[in-house]
Amino acid sequence: SGSWDPPYRVVLLGDPGVGKTSLANLFAGLQDRDLLEQHGEAAYKRTLSVDGEETTLLVMDTWQPEQPGEESRRRSQCLQVGNAYVIVYSITDRGSFESASELRIQLRRARQAEDIPIILVGNKTDLVRCREVSVEEGRACAVVFDCKFIETSAALQHNVAELFEGVVRQIRLRRGGK
Ligand code: GDP
Repeated sequence: SGSWDPPYRVVLLGDPGVGKTSLANLFAGLQDRDLLEQHGEAAYKRTLSVDGEETTLLVMDTWQPEQPGEESRRRSQCLQVGNAYVIVYSITDRGSFESASELRIQLRRARQAEDIPIILVGNKTDLVRCREVSVEEGRACAVVFDCKFIETSAALQHNVAELFEGVVRQIRLRRGGK
C-alpha cells in the first residue's frame, strides 16, 4: 500500500556497537540543526532534498538487544512501525553480519505481505585492517535478501548522506500515486 503519511519512519536495526547511533547522529546533524526534533527517546526528523524534491524522514534509533527473560515488546514494535529499514552491521564483526541476515528474516516474517524498503549497511569501512566481511559478501547478501546495499564509515562521514538519500529514493519508488 503506497499511501503512508509523511514523515516516513526509518528504523535502524542491528547489533549493539555497529554504529546505529553514530549514523543517526550524522543524519540529524548533517545540516540545519533547527530541523532536528527529539521524539521520545532517539528519533530524529529531517527534511532532505533529493532529486529536487523534499521528503521528511523520522529516523528511529530505538532498537535494543534482547534482554533475557524480558518480553521484547520494543523489538517487535520496531519491526512493525517502520516505513523503511536500515539494517546495519560492522564490516569488522562477522557476528553482526550474521545478525543482519537474521533481522532480515524476522522483518520479512513480521511484515509478510508488504514491500518495504530495506537497505543493508556495512559500516566502519575506515577500519580496513580489521575487515571480516568483504564488499562482495555484503553485496551478495543483499541480492539474496532482495534489498539495497551500501558500505559506510560514520567515522569518516563516508557515504552517510548517500545512505539516507538512497532511503528516500527507495520510499519514493514504492509510494505510488502522488
Ligand atoms: P550502536 O550501538 O549500533 O548505536 O553503535 P554506536 O553508534 O554507539 O557506535 C559504537 C562504537 O563504534 C562507538 O565507539 C563509535 O564511535 C564507533 N563507530 C561507529 N561508527 C564507526 C565507524 O564508521 N568507524 C569507526 N572506526 N568506529 C565507528
